[in-house]
Amino acid sequence: MLKTVCENLNNRGFIAFCVKDADEALKKSLEIIKQNEIASFGGSETVKSIKLAEKLIERGSVICHRSYLKDGETAESVMKKAFSTDFFVCSANAVTKGGEIVNTDGTANRVAATLYGPKNVLMVVGKNKITTDLNTAFDRIKNTAARLNCERLHKDNPCIYGKSCETCKNDETICNATVIHHHPTRNKNFYVILVDEELGY
Ligand code: SF4
Repeated sequence: MLKTVCENLNNRGFIAFCVKDADEALKKSLEIIKQNEIASFGGSETVKSIKLAEKLIERGSVICHRSYLKDGETAESVMKKAFSTDFFVCSANAVTKGGEIVNTDGTANRVAATLYGPKNVLMVVGKNKITTDLNTAFDRIKNTAARLNCERLHKDNPCIYGKSCETCKNDETICNATVIHHHPTRNKNFYVILVDEELGY
């Protein structure tokens, strides 16, 4: 299955790789992002789990990250700065078997930076995010990804604690915008590392 998804992503113009586990995903990410390139990050439990930010710092690369703010930086300024960095790194909420990538955001800094701005995007995606089609991708976002993210971020939305999505419209919703990447947007290198392991949610 992972190989088929990888082929379909490549056929759509993404630059996709399959790796066996989190260690290989880290190694591949460090090959793709060159030492002198600045990487910015969207919030991602997957990317956090492979410790990419920490390894980039360790090897002396400059990063732009909300958890590693430099003097004068704020979470807001880092999100804006992401548009002028070399790489934007994040994960996906779902990738269909046919090679479409789907993400839903509340603030939308993640989806915005994957559409426009950084010349390069790198997504690291565990096999648990693969869905058969777009409908199951939307189901996965509402019933798994958004719910678990609401719990992690302590957002008191209707979907938490096992309840179903009520398409909430309050200030706390994390479902304000959904982007489907059918292909990479113009002039962008869009790397996707598919990991044969469950990572993030
Ligand atoms: S729309 Fe609201 S209730 Fe539905 S998944 Fe998103 S945050 Fe949860």
